[in-house]
Amino acid sequence: MNPFEYLRANDHQSAIDAATSPAAPARFLAGGTNLIDLMREGIEQPRLLVDITRLPLTAVEERPGGGLRIGAMVRNSHLASHPIVRERFPLLSYAILNGASAQLRNMATTGGNLMQRTRCYYFYDTASHCNKREPGSGCDALDGFNRTHAILGASSQCIATHPSDMCVALAALDATVNVEGPGGARAVPFADFHRLPGETPDVDTNLLRGELITSVDLPGSSAGLHSVYRKVRDRASYAFALVSVAAAIRIVDGRIAELRLALGGVAHKPWRAATAERALLGSVPTPDAFARAADAELEPAVPQAHNGFKIALARRTIVAVLSELAGLGGGAQ
Ligand SMILES: Cc1cc2nc3c(=O)[nH]c(=O)nc-3n(C[C@H](O)[C@H](O)[C@H](O)COP(=O)(O)OP(=O)(O)OC[C@H]3O[C@@H](n4cnc5c(N)ncnc54)[C@H](O)[C@@H]3O)c2cc1C
Repeated sequence: MNPFEYLRANDHQSAIDAATSPAAPARFLAGGTNLIDLMREGIEQPRLLVDITRLPLTAVEERPGGGLRIGAMVRNSHLASHPIVRERFPLLSYAILNGASAQLRNMATTGGNLMQRTRCYYFYDTASHCNKREPGSGCDALDGFNRTHAILGASSQCIATHPSDMCVALAALDATVNVEGPGGARAVPFADFHRLPGETPDVDTNLLRGELITSVDLPGSSAGLHSVYRKVRDRASYAFALVSVAAAIRIVDGRIAELRLALGGVAHKPWRAATAERALLGSVPTPDAFARAADAELEPAVPQAHNGFKIALARRTIVAVLSELAGLGGGAQ
């Protein structure tokens, strides 16, 4: 274990000031379910841990227009079981309950879930080359065992995937991430929060140095949609997604009037399936139309040696989920 300093913050500003102090690199400590593992493995080596568990960021508050503001320190279990979430944004509840275990969800927080790091084996194995862990060192996943890796938006530097279930639902629900930092407060649309790997796979998000996630907003426009989260994985519990699909739909007069579709397990960030959404908007919901839209979304997919199955799996899961939502049965194609 590398030596580090510990500081408990009592308010936002002292947390932000500490995280930008000369003692940096610093990390905020929330539930600790990812960060502490990474520190034990020597992958994260902060010089300063800023404990944010006492910050008043634990509220789930209704917003004008039917939206919701979720404090960054709201625990995953609390959020999944919150009556308003279950009633108006059940997609979020389903996605959270598909992740980790009850014990982990009791500790894990909203902010920490957004910031959790990839589960790529080579990222965790410090004997391997990994551009995300050590920029410029190479990527052993490219020629290694890459069954769980990305098929969309990857680069020659990194083919890791984002592991979160909750974030796939937040992508579909058009969430906004509220942050505060040395430069003040700003709101980041969810689609711009996480990054594709490009040439800098070590940078997971567009959060700036010292910025603290304070809350996540769900717009009222996402409330009340008919929705499903389906996670396909190797085991029925306690496993990360090979492919997951978050979908929310509104059908009016036999046509798709509104559709939100996001994929997990396929890219370095939660993947909003905008191409498929555009293809389906205004059309009559049929399994064939869903399959054509899935094909269009997955057309740019690039498989690695061991994960080509993800393309077919994503296609089938999209068709099955949308068919279920449209009342056409949820069977795979
Ligand atoms: C065995 C196991 C299985 C799991 N399975 C799943 C799964 O199936 N699906 C899934 O989605 N997740 C899964 N997880 C991951 C789990 O959901 C995350 O570990 C958890 O959400 C992280 O939240 P935390 O509060 O514990 O974050 P921490 O570990 O405290 O922090 C993680 C990162 O977030 C940063 N951070 C935390 N809060 C803030 C903030 N407010 N502002 C800025 N930065 C912040 C920290 O500095 C750190 O870099 C699993 C974890 C484990 C250990």
